[in-house]
Amino acid sequence: MKTISTEVLLEHCIKKKKSLTPSRILVIKTLSKSQNPKSAYDLLKEINDTEKTNLNISTIYRVLEFWINLGLIHKISAINKFLVCLTPHEKHTHMLNFCTICERVVETCSEKMGLNLQQSTKKINLSFDSNQSVEIPVICSKCS
Ligand SMILES: [Zn+2]
Ligand SMILES: [Zn+2]
Repeated sequence: MKTISTEVLLEHCIKKKKSLTPSRILVIKTLSKSQNPKSAYDLLKEINDTEKTNLNISTIYRVLEFWINLGLIHKISAINKFLVCLTPHEKHTHMLNFCTICERVVETCSEKMGLNLQQSTKKINLSFDSNQSVEIPVICSKCS
């Protein structure tokens, strides 16, 4: 898995008129090295151990929140872990199929899964919030 480049991060920040700080770079680069979602505490330990920094957990959470708002990091609420979005330019709903055994995530979009969430939610008089990603618990091919 390749790590996300600083140029790409900078491009996203400029577009949203945000600045790219060293801790923002560290958090997303460290997370992008991982194939599986990581908890904020995993990230904290990994960054402070390898980078000889002294970040605290609230900084990690703040930075994660920052990237989630920019759409570059997803939170898997069911397991309270985070991972880098593989398709930040995807216009359809981001679908996070996470294996409930090994926690591997297969990210795809609603269109590729043949789902029309707007239509489905309309049936019960609700409107789908298209800014959110959707989690689906699955058992991956390695674990089944
Ligand atoms: Zn995504
Ligand atoms: Zn699995």
